[in-house]
Formats: sequence, C-alpha cells, structure tokens
Amino acid sequence: MCGIVGYTGTKQAYPIVIKGLKRLEYRGYDSAGIALQQNNHVTIYKKKGKVSDLEESIGTANVTGTTGIGHTRWATHGEPNDRNAHPHFSSSGKIAMIHNGIIENYLQLKSELLSKGYTFKSDTDTEVLLNFIEEIKTNNNCSLEEALRIALKRVTGAYVILMIDNENPDTIIAARKGSPLVIGVGKNEHFLGSDASPMLEYTKEVVYVNDYELAIVKPDELILKNLGNEKLTPYVQKLDIELAAIEKSGYNHFMLKEIFEQPTTIFDCLRGRLDAINGTITMSGIQQYAEQIINANRIIIIACGTSWHAGLVAEYIIEELCRINVEVEYASEFRYRNPIINEGDVILAISQSGETADTLVAIENAKTKGAIILGIVNVVGSSIARASHAGAYTHAGPEIGVASTKAFTAQLSVLMMIALKIGYLKGALSEKRYRHLLKELDMVPEKAAWILNHADAIKAIAEKYKDAGDFLYLGRGYNFAIALEGALKLKEISYIHAEGYPAAEMKHGPIALVD
Ligand code: GLU
Repeated sequence: MCGIVGYTGTKQAYPIVIKGLKRLEYRGYDSAGIALQQNNHVTIYKKKGKVSDLEESIGTANVTGTTGIGHTRWATHGEPNDRNAHPHFSSSGKIAMIHNGIIENYLQLKSELLSKGYTFKSDTDTEVLLNFIEEIKTNNNCSLEEALRIALKRVTGAYVILMIDNENPDTIIAARKGSPLVIGVGKNEHFLGSDASPMLEYTKEVVYVNDYELAIVKPDELILKNLGNEKLTPYVQKLDIELAAIEKSGYNHFMLKEIFEQPTTIFDCLRGRLDAINGTITMSGIQQYAEQIINANRIIIIACGTSWHAGLVAEYIIEELCRINVEVEYASEFRYRNPIINEGDVILAISQSGETADTLVAIENAKTKGAIILGIVNVVGSSIARASHAGAYTHAGPEIGVASTKAFTAQLSVLMMIALKIGYLKGALSEKRYRHLLKELDMVPEKAAWILNHADAIKAIAEKYKDAGDFLYLGRGYNFAIALEGALKLKEISYIHAEGYPAAEMKHGPIALVD
C-alpha cells in the first residue's frame, strides 16, 4: 500500500500535495517524494522517512509550480531509502512517475530492457514500468498516453500510476488497476488521491476511476478512457465526508481517536437497521438476496488481516445461528489457488477500505464462477462495494489509523445483524432467542462506552506488562478469533512478538514457550 496525490490547476501544487501526503501517510511511511512541473521541466524531491523529513530536506528550495504529484511509500521492491523513494525519472529524465502497487512481471520486463542497454537507478518495479513505457514511446514515436496504453496491455499486477512529463506541462496522466484512485473535480483544477482525504477542503465532487481506465487530467479537462482508447463519461459523485472526520480531534493519534469513537460508530452501524423494540432488522442489500443466502450450500467469507478475523467470528456466529456451512478464506490464498466454487455459493467479502487488492481479485474470480458476492465494506463507492451484487456498509467513518479498530467492531456488528436476520428468516433461531440477541446487540454501544471509561485500568495493565518479550493471547469460541486479532494488534502497534491460540491448544505444544 502507499499513498498517491496529484494536483493540476491554478493554485500552487506543493502545499496541496504535501498536505495530502500527510493525510495519506497511514498508507505508507517509509519514504516520501514529490515531482513538480517548473517551466517545462520536472523537478523531483524525495527522501527516506516521513513526509515531515521530506519537507525538512526540501527546506527553502524552489517549489513553485501549479502541477505536481506526490507519494508516500510502503516498499515492496527495494529497501526503503532515498534512491528507491518515488517519484522516479525515466531514463531520459523527461518523465516522472509515482506508483502504488506491484508489477508482477517486472523481472521479465527488466531483463528485456537490460538487453537493450537500459540501466536502473533504483531497485523498484516502478522504474522498470516507467522505462518500459518510455521505450515504447521512443520506438513508436507516439504520445505518452499512447505508450502507456500499449505498455499496460503487457503488464501484470496491480497499480495506480501518475505521470508528469516535460512535453505536457499542465497534464497528469493516470491509470489504475487493482489499487484505488479518486479524482476530485474543482473549478479549473483537479485533484488526485488514493482516497478523497487530500481533496476534502477543496471539492466534494469526485470521480472514482475504475480498473483498466486511463485519465488525462488537465486543470480544465478530465478525459477518461479505457485501454481500447474509447472515451468514457466520468461519473461524478458527491462526497458525504466532512473534514472534521479525518482530523484528530484532540487525540494524540488517529488510532486512539478511532478506539474512542467505537460507541458512536457501533451505534451508527446499528442505527436505522436494528429495532430491538419491534424485533426487526432492516438491511435492504441482504434482504434482496435472503432467499439465496438461506438456501446456500455454503457461505465463503473472503478477507485479509483484521477483516479475516471478523470473518472468523462470523463463521462461528452464522453456523450457530443460521446452521449454514461457512468457510473463511484468506483472499491472498484464495486468489492464487484453484478453489472450488459452485453456482449459488454465497461469498461475503469483508474489507474496511473496499480496495483490498487480493480480496477484489478473489471476488472477481468467484463472480465469473457464478457465486453471489455480498460486500461488507466501510468506504462508500469503493471498488469492492461496486464489484459486489449487494452488501452492507459498516458506516464507521474514515479509518486513518494504520491498525484497524473501529472498522473491526463495525464489521462484527454488521455480520451479527446479517446472521440474526438470516437465522430468523430461515427459522433456525427461535423468536425468543432472536429477540434476546437483538436487545443484547442494541446494548453494545453502551457497553463499549463503559469499557472505554475504564481506560486507566487498561493503561495500568499495559504499564505492568509492557516489557514482556512475547505475548500469548488465548480464547475459545468467538474469543479465539478475538485472541488472534489481539495478537495482531500488539505485533503491529508495539512490535512485540505475540500469538493467538485456541485456549485448549496450549497443552499441545505452545505451553513449552511459557517462561
Ligand atoms: N512497488 C513499489 C515500490 O516498492 C510501490 C510500493 C507502494 O505501493 O508503495 O516501490
């Protein structure tokens, strides 16, 4: 994952791009860089470290220019250092590119280019793609846009790329497959971003670019094309996020803010759906496919990371309340094997961002085999939401913290509602138990608030154990999945080794680790 930003218009690009990169820093933070158009010449500044390190290294250098692109990197190819930071220059030094994703056949392309005498300044797959495009442009004597289109037909992998070049001083050329790209439409200006956060204070009108689409973005023009060079009509949508939702509101970190938002986000997730008094759950997307879900041979849950843990909880809940067979799959494994999917299988795809590349590819595959895809996502209008037949949003608001917190509990809330609804419709759940569980679910926001009111007690526990080198999280039933999620959080946030285990498994080996 990484964050990309672009601006072309009448304002100065640098402050907009830098601010945008800070908002996207959750997506990547091992290095950052920016490329600016300055008098028909592209200048690049880049630096290992955070966006603030980049700013510091730029110091008082000349950063004027009304067209620019920026990148915060989370390295996949080549160590995080100044040399591998984006943007990259093409061999001729005329084109600058930033890239979010992975070019899977970069080694093959690189060896072709090496045999033609190309040399590389970085270890990235990105520079290979860029030189491959430039090679096509030179050989065919064509425009950059045309060269990009030809190149992308040979590229496998996932990408969002943005390019600027000497010949088109106010133009940003973009393409997308498998990674997210949003374009903000302003007056005589356009904004580009991995999500909408860099453009929120300037415009609420956005276009979500789809896979296999190319965008030629100028201050006063946005041209969208497919790889067949046919023009497409950009579908402009109105954003419903407010700026305040992506700011820290007095907390030191986004993650802390998001943890404390949970009573509200769980409430928002249940609101308008769960009616404990009348005993109803309203979820139109699920209702629409209720028949197929009830009669499904099995439900396959596809997700990654924290969402996968939510899926594991859902497996236990759905099997218990609905008596439907459930399997939980890592999207990255599912997509790279040859899974058995039958017509009528129901897939539940869970993803906070709705852009998780592995999950997206996995559901596209399943769709071609006739499965029904239901998306449980947080970001409205995201790729997984659009690729699904139906689904339910988690309504947790933007999650900026790198480690998922409020999105996880919102996912659990949605999954619980789905299980209750289906279990009840199927008749697998008695009226009494259904009503009881609705009431319990309704009380969760209140209980979450009660726990958060005891943050000091939690802090005291953390203080006591903070120097331990290894942690084992144990749980049974629903709490087994929670143990896995707890261990993941500790690893991700504290860099301390942690593992989650089913409680009774301890005696089958791992207990040897306890000192
Ligand atoms: N594959 C590219 C690199 O390693 C981009 C990684 C990213 O998405 O940040 O440089």
